[in-house]
Amino acid sequence: MIGAGVLGASVAARLAAAGVQVTLLEQDQPGRGTSRWSLAWLNSNDKFPRPYHDLNHAGIRAWAELAPDLDGTAWYRPVGHLEVAATASQAEELAARVRRLTEWDYPAHLIDPAEAAALEPALRMPAPPASTAWFPGEGYLLTEPLIERLVARARAHGAAVLTGDQGRVAAVVDGQVRTAAGTTVEADEIVCCAGRWTPRLAELAGAAPGSVPLVPWDTPGATAPGFVVRAGPVTWPALTHLVHTPDLALRPHPGGLLQLEAPDAAVDLHTSQAELTRWAAELLRRAQRTVLGLEDAGVVRYQVCVRPMPADGQSIVGRLPGADHLYVAVTHSGVTLAAHLSRLIAAELTGGAPSAELAPYRPGTARVG
Ligand SMILES: Cc1cc2nc3c(=O)[nH]c(=O)nc-3n(C[C@H](O)[C@H](O)[C@H](O)COP(=O)(O)OP(=O)(O)OC[C@H]3O[C@@H](n4cnc5c(N)ncnc54)[C@H](O)[C@@H]3O)c2cc1C
Repeated sequence: MIGAGVLGASVAARLAAAGVQVTLLEQDQPGRGTSRWSLAWLNSNDKFPRPYHDLNHAGIRAWAELAPDLDGTAWYRPVGHLEVAATASQAEELAARVRRLTEWDYPAHLIDPAEAAALEPALRMPAPPASTAWFPGEGYLLTEPLIERLVARARAHGAAVLTGDQGRVAAVVDGQVRTAAGTTVEADEIVCCAGRWTPRLAELAGAAPGSVPLVPWDTPGATAPGFVVRAGPVTWPALTHLVHTPDLALRPHPGGLLQLEAPDAAVDLHTSQAELTRWAAELLRRAQRTVLGLEDAGVVRYQVCVRPMPADGQSIVGRLPGADHLYVAVTHSGVTLAAHLSRLIAAELTGGAPSAELAPYRPGTARVG
């Protein structure tokens, strides 16, 4: 197994629990890649087409099933999600989405301002708010304590976990993995959950360039990077739900903080520190306009982090043509999807029939994004 983000750690835990002998290779420490900074919003709120919506909805349910068995109080936050629309056209879009999601058996309701204020006393409602929706089945995860527990579960079932240079995959030859430390790991199957680095590993294993098509992430102007701010301290009343407004996403974060993201924060891995600092201050200002409890808050941390984003915005999962012994799994919405995807992947890899649910996401399947 290559990569111990939320997806790789989930797959490793499932495979090890199924009796497979797993070696989990991670170039850093587990959970320090994209998964560490994710908003980690569990949702299938605006996902198309219908099978991809259903896959994400199954993802939300899979975490609910796993939580009681994996110390969920440390990482599982099924708190619900409030979305506020500020203009008439945003309200129209929100109402249409709620109607569609209801038809798709997904919990979604329009609520009035008094209900929203009662649900989330920390929210400063725009005056007047155009519309508010409540998605009670959604929530978020704390990925660091989660990944710690997934890796511990894999270890408890006999997995070896190698990190740093010992775990950094430098070459893949004839089903053997060579690490940067010079050791060789033999495997019947190499499962690659290396997030945005997956295309590089696929090429190391002999696949043609472009076999794992991701949205570019390392060039100036690339759209895969996102910007995350952690701000605090939060005083009373503290936000308890995940909230979206048209210009901000926010949720509680451990340590009395809020995690913030803005859809228009155009940053990439080349953005200057001065510009990042400017954006961080802007997100804090927006948060102070959106919720109470941030009167004494400052920016505690900010980070540019990169979405592993398949070109169609969905997932790529399966054995990679042209790459010996390599099974890849790379996806956007990886936090929502990991519990369910890992179950499907582990079933396939332990002799089950190819999953019909995964059929649309096989490498090489042409899809319209
Ligand atoms: C700003 C932002 C917000 C997001 N919000 C959401 C959200 O609200 N909900 C949601 O579901 N998803 C969200 N996502 C997406 C989600 O976070 C990712 O899909 C998910 O974290 C990917 O997990 P992963 O395990 O595939 O990748 P990663 O967490 O990046 O893990 C990959 C691992 O592979 C390791 N690796 C790479 N190369 C090698 C090598 N050569 N040898 C050994 N190890 C290697 C890396 O070190 C890393 O630890 C968001 C992403 C971003 C950036």
